[in-house]
Amino acid sequence: MKLQQKLQSLHQVYDIYGSFTDALDLACRKQCCRCCTRNVTLTSLEAASILEELDSIEKDRLRRQLQDATSLERFQPQITTNEIADRCALGEALPEESCDPNWGPCPLLENRSCPHYSLRPFACRCLISRSDCSKIGHADMDEFVLTVSSVFLQVIEHLDSDGCTGNFTDVILYLSKPENMSAYRESRLACSAGNLIRNRPLKRLMVPPSHRTQAAPLLRQLQRIVHA
Ligand code: SF4
Ligand code: SF4
Repeated sequence: MKLQQKLQSLHQVYDIYGSFTDALDLACRKQCCRCCTRNVTLTSLEAASILEELDSIEKDRLRRQLQDATSLERFQPQITTNEIADRCALGEALPEESCDPNWGPCPLLENRSCPHYSLRPFACRCLISRSDCSKIGHADMDEFVLTVSSVFLQVIEHLDSDGCTGNFTDVILYLSKPENMSAYRESRLACSAGNLIRNRPLKRLMVPPSHRTQAAPLLRQLQRIVHA
């Protein structure tokens, strides 16, 4: 699939998720940013979506902000969502990964706000909570919302199955190099050279039996995008 077609599919997926969360009763509001940590991850497709929308001045600024964060501790995933689904189905162990919100805020955060809010990746879009996280110390999501978010992560990885996943800082900096963006457009991006992990196609959805009926309308919408 060509990059423009993949980007179009990604934005359709974001829109479907946005309609889903619009109907939820959430405590999330502007300048509420406890969830904006430097542990956010994204796919190369989402990074391309951000970079495609920025002009050269904005890109340089973003690169500088992220470059300053490369020496800081951050979550660097060892396994993608679709690999987790595959391993769980086979009863295989998952790697131990450390991820601590206290490692610090997202390097982009300015005045408690995201300067690229409309472009934010899915991992930011699905950081939602029914209660104010600053009061209860964590996000409060019901099990069905967690299932839906996992499915969307799986579909986004599937759309980018010839790409990579990694920490926001690592993926954006890697893909902002013109030679890497060219390699990505030609489906030959080397993941490990950028501290990233290879994406996988979706083989099995992580939807428990108790959520299948409720999730069916969303799954039908996502299927239309994946099979377009
Ligand atoms: S997830 Fe929590 S910290 Fe983030 S916007 Fe929502 S309520 Fe605020
Ligand atoms: S990219 Fe934006 S929305 Fe996402 S964590 Fe950073 S500041 Fe928050």
